[in-house]
Amino acid sequence: MNVDNSKIRLVLDIDDTAINSSEQMVKMINKQYGTNKTIKDLKDYAYKSICRNISEEMKYNMFDSIEFFKNVKFKEGFLECCEAFKDEVTFEFLTKGRKLNLTAKYDWMNRYFPYDFGYYGISCDNTKGHNDLSNAVFIEDVTQNLLESNAKVKILIRNNRETEYNRIEPNSGIYAVDNWEQIHTMLDFIIHKDRSNFF
Ligand SMILES: [Mg+2]
Repeated sequence: MNVDNSKIRLVLDIDDTAINSSEQMVKMINKQYGTNKTIKDLKDYAYKSICRNISEEMKYNMFDSIEFFKNVKFKEGFLECCEAFKDEVTFEFLTKGRKLNLTAKYDWMNRYFPYDFGYYGISCDNTKGHNDLSNAVFIEDVTQNLLESNAKVKILIRNNRETEYNRIEPNSGIYAVDNWEQIHTMLDFIIHKDRSNFF
C-alpha cells in the first residue's frame, strides 16, 4: 500500500467493529442449539452466555462457516463514516481469526468494502500489540486489544453492550463510544477541528 503521510491511518478491527459478527453468531447458535437468545444476552467472548454448551471449537467453526459470511453485514453507519473520511484517511483492518476465517474475511472485505485497504490477519492467540500503531487511530470492540496496543488514538466501540470484554477503567486513555455515528463525530473532531492535538 502507498504511504501517504498527509493521511491519517485508520486501523480497524473487523468483528463487531466493522461487521455485526455477534448478531450473526447469536442467530446461528439459536438455530443450531434451539436457544432463543438475543444480542442483548451476550456477556462474554466465548458465547457461553448465549449457549452454555458451546465449545471453543464449535464457536470457531461457526466463525469459519459459509453461512456466517453469507449473512454477516456491515454495522450501521460504518460505510457512511468511511465514505465521509475516505480522502483523509487510509483504511487498514487488523483482525484475529483461524486461517479459514481470515481468508474468508479478507475475501468478504475485498468484495464488499468499496475502498483500498490494508489487511493484517493474525491468529487468535496472538496479540494486536505487535503492530506498530503509534501514528494511527485504532478502533476496536475489545478493551484488551486496545490496552496492548501503542495506538496514538484508541477508540472502543461498545455497541450498547455491557460485557466482560468491553469494560474500561478510568484514565486508561481510551475513548468509549457506542456506535459509528459517535465515531463519525469523533473523527470529525480529530481530523478537522483539533488535528494538531492528536497528530
Ligand atoms: Mg472485534
